[in-house]
Amino acid sequence: METYTLGYKFRIYPNKTQEGLINRTLGCARFVFNHFLAVRRDEWKANHNSLTYVKTSKLLTDLKKREETAWLSEVDSMALQESLRNLDRAYENFFKRRARYPRFKSKHNHSQSYRTRNQSNGIRIVENRIKLPKIGLVKIKQSRAFEGKIQSATVSRTASGKYFVSLCVETDKTMLFRPNGGKQIGIDVGLKAFCLDSDGNVIQSPRPLKKLQRKLRRAQRRLSRKLPKSMNRDKARVRVARVHERIANIRRDFLHKLSTRLARENQTVAVEHLNVKGMLRNHRLAKSISDASWSEIFRQLTYKTELHGGELLKVDTFYPSSQTCSVCGYRNPLTKNLSVREWDCPGCGTHHDRDVNAAKNILRKALEDKSKTA
Ligand SMILES: [Zn+2]
Repeated sequence: METYTLGYKFRIYPNKTQEGLINRTLGCARFVFNHFLAVRRDEWKANHNSLTYVKTSKLLTDLKKREETAWLSEVDSMALQESLRNLDRAYENFFKRRARYPRFKSKHNHSQSYRTRNQSNGIRIVENRIKLPKIGLVKIKQSRAFEGKIQSATVSRTASGKYFVSLCVETDKTMLFRPNGGKQIGIDVGLKAFCLDSDGNVIQSPRPLKKLQRKLRRAQRRLSRKLPKSMNRDKARVRVARVHERIANIRRDFLHKLSTRLARENQTVAVEHLNVKGMLRNHRLAKSISDASWSEIFRQLTYKTELHGGELLKVDTFYPSSQTCSVCGYRNPLTKNLSVREWDCPGCGTHHDRDVNAAKNILRKALEDKSKTA
């Protein structure tokens, strides 16, 4: 059986007791991470010896037996083990030069989380509640249904004090498969709009984002004026966090809806393989790109097109998609200038909208490349 692992994030509403338990687990998971980061760092300094996950796991068992740290054995033991795994992964990423040296986790981080595994059905949904190890049945707002086996759960608390659970669910691929609508489409990043497609449709970013971004700037200014460690500062900090969360929610929702629609309607979705790092350096494009989270939509399109039996094709960034006429192939260098929004092709006379023409070229080039490699 071929399986697929998908993530589902839901808001949970723990009662006071459960909230206390979750917060303690968050604290213990952080303690374990920081404690063993120090242990591993010192061991390396003293003996040039790199401790493994297995070794730190043994040390954790010893730590739980000690009187002064016996409180560690009162919380979900899998959460602490997962914390060690996270640390191990952080080291691995560092050794493979994918990340910086692991850093200590601060209590004041924007959001806190711990991960626990589903052992012998310890995590399951019972009507409108979710069973979590050591926490019990917590009220959940399950915004969408899913099928499959829950592998792990990450419990998180946001800076504004909301709780969420992210579930990793393994599902049989055939259960998820829904045939697509069979169309073909090219997508281009817009400068003003979020993106455009080769049929001439313009997809705008959600309207509330602009308003919220102004609100965020105001809240941030207010926060910067508050005295450190004052009550008002704390309130202002929560206000900033709340706006951040709303922006993130609207954006996530927008990206998911868009990628789902594209994957459902089309057999082929063609995009430009954007070198996001390079584009962020180009200041003019930077805002629309970072706002729009292009790498996130690519990630979603990759798995969603697969779930619908379609394909995501990527065109090389160096292909001059906006300079080439999508009808006759004439190359017009004048359109290199970003301010040229519309042009008439000197080769065949077709009137082009810059971005729609680019989206058409992206689709054409993607199909061309594909037939060459096939
Ligand atoms: Zn032409």
